[in-house]
Amino acid sequence: MEISPHVPAPEVPPRLAPWADSLELAVVYELETLRLVEVNRAFARKFGQPGPAWRGQSMQALLHPEDTADWQGYAGRVARPPFHIAREHRWQTAQGWRWIAWEETALREADGRVLEVRAVGRDVTKHRLAEEHFRKLAQAVEQAPVSIVITTPGGTPQYVNSRYTEVTGYTLEEIFEQQIPLLREGHASDAAYRHFCALVASGHKWSGELRSGRKDGSEAWEFVQVSPIRNHLDEVTYLLCLREDISERKALEEQLRQAQKMESLGTLAGGIAHDFNNIIAIIRGFTELSVALPAGDPRLGRYLATVHDAAIRAASLVGQILAFSRKTEVTYRPVRINQVVDELVGLLAETFPRDIELVRDLDESIEAFAADPNQVRQILMNLCVNARDAMTGGGVLTLATRRVAGGSLGNLKADPTQDYAHIRVADTGAGMTPEIRARIFEPFFTTKQESGGTGLGLAVVYGIVASHQGLIDLTSEPGRGTVFHVYLPLKTRGDEAPAAGAAATPGNIPRGTERLLLVEDEVAIQEMLATVLRQVGYHVSTANDGAVAIETIMTRGDKLDAVVLDLNMPRLGGVEVLKVLRQRWPNLPVLIMSGHLTESVLTELRQLGQSHEHIIEKPFDFLTFGRALRRVIETRKKA
Ligand code: ADP
Ligand code: MG
Repeated sequence: MEISPHVPAPEVPPRLAPWADSLELAVVYELETLRLVEVNRAFARKFGQPGPAWRGQSMQALLHPEDTADWQGYAGRVARPPFHIAREHRWQTAQGWRWIAWEETALREADGRVLEVRAVGRDVTKHRLAEEHFRKLAQAVEQAPVSIVITTPGGTPQYVNSRYTEVTGYTLEEIFEQQIPLLREGHASDAAYRHFCALVASGHKWSGELRSGRKDGSEAWEFVQVSPIRNHLDEVTYLLCLREDISERKALEEQLRQAQKMESLGTLAGGIAHDFNNIIAIIRGFTELSVALPAGDPRLGRYLATVHDAAIRAASLVGQILAFSRKTEVTYRPVRINQVVDELVGLLAETFPRDIELVRDLDESIEAFAADPNQVRQILMNLCVNARDAMTGGGVLTLATRRVAGGSLGNLKADPTQDYAHIRVADTGAGMTPEIRARIFEPFFTTKQESGGTGLGLAVVYGIVASHQGLIDLTSEPGRGTVFHVYLPLKTRGDEAPAAGAAATPGNIPRGTERLLLVEDEVAIQEMLATVLRQVGYHVSTANDGAVAIETIMTRGDKLDAVVLDLNMPRLGGVEVLKVLRQRWPNLPVLIMSGHLTESVLTELRQLGQSHEHIIEKPFDFLTFGRALRRVIETRKKA
């Protein structure tokens, strides 16, 4: 380094005079040695030493080591036309490494040789970093595992990332040339989409789960979030839409639901087994006791009544399970609600503890309305059983009916053009806390684990009320009792008079003298029915299965007045028997009995000309059975 101590350098050398007070950095360096000759004040400040101190120092020593090779690559280029270059590198300044953009001009001698170069530079670090930041951001967006879409507020696509094209199968050309309304995808209806548009256009964020179609026709669940992008005037200029594929999570959720259902079914099966075992124990015990009684013992009647009650409980349990799994066929008939209540109160008076007082408060002006009588009975039964459970120390159970106009049921979402039968079931029992109240309609929710509650009662009630387009409501307070309100629409659809439900003894079963063939494989039931029928005057022959039945019918059909036919039998089922019978004796009256009627069986029976009224569901009481049989026989006589 050669610095002459005798000639002090002027503070601003003449060749840099225009940059004397400039904020731009300015230097002159020797082309061959790359040593500094002159620097301006801005450079001296930036690099931390007074101007003169820089004379003879190497430029290259100030460069970032990684940039040296690149910087040297330019060397000499400035000496050729157009004698001007621009380059950006990192330099070691007093503030640390900074990006500096230099514009360099060759200073040509009179003979054209280039010995020195003037460089004028600016600190572009901020700009550089912003650019880099932006580049990273762009890469992140481009590679993000979520689909990212930017559109105008009107939904015209402006940008989609590669994930989006990957997932949807659309190409960029398709998206931008055909202007596919990308944000419409997944909204269930035009109305839903319009609502969404209005919301985001007014500057709100929107998010939700949508089921979106792909180009190839497949579908996926997506979590979609749309937020407005605003300009400096706070106007919504673009919409940013993020879509995340959540199909997998949805599938897992579904699996979990299934697993929970299975678990619930396990609990349910346990509960049912428990209940049934109790019932069977009662039936077995009391039948054994009955068998052991000496002839004429007065206790026999009481024992058998207990067995009878147990059987009713078993039937109601099966009814509940079937209602819950929705396997029973719903049949609408005119239902007289007051009569149902009367019957039920009669039954409850027999079976509920004596310290529960039963009160009826019936509105006689309610006419018959269309409903499934069994299911309506089920609603009342379940509510009453719960009321009983809540009144362990006794109390009052009130069953009330009223006719109300839908319009007066304010917040219940009733049909205002419709009148309803309002059934109120009120108890003075334990009541419920708000926490319990909130969950009572959940299937399997019970607070009676100890006593074998299934948690199905109210779930069934809810299901039945809903299927009747009815409404349910309640008020309850701990210690102050509970009131359930059920509203059933007073519709008049229905086709058959309701069955009266007086208790049946063989004495009041309608009598007959006709010759019957009773086809039933279950020996006990066969014997039971044959006994009852003979007691009231019928001539009964029996068959244990379908094959025997057909034989009898083929040979002795003309000597029969009616056939009572069970459907579910081994070897040859009732439907097969009916087919043969219809060919040979098309006019022979047939009463079908079955414990499990499915829609398909009903259809088949209908096709064979078997009227709905001539089918009776097991279990039935003798009176219902006897009446159904009379109906079948009378129809024939009229015809
Ligand atoms: P379960 O009776 O088998 O428990 P339910 O579905 O019939 O199932 O009832 C669910 C729960 O609702 C009951 O366990 C009980 O906690 C509560 N509950 C229902 N009815 C009443 C009532 N009348 N009084 C107090 N609690 C009731
Ligand atoms: Mg219950």
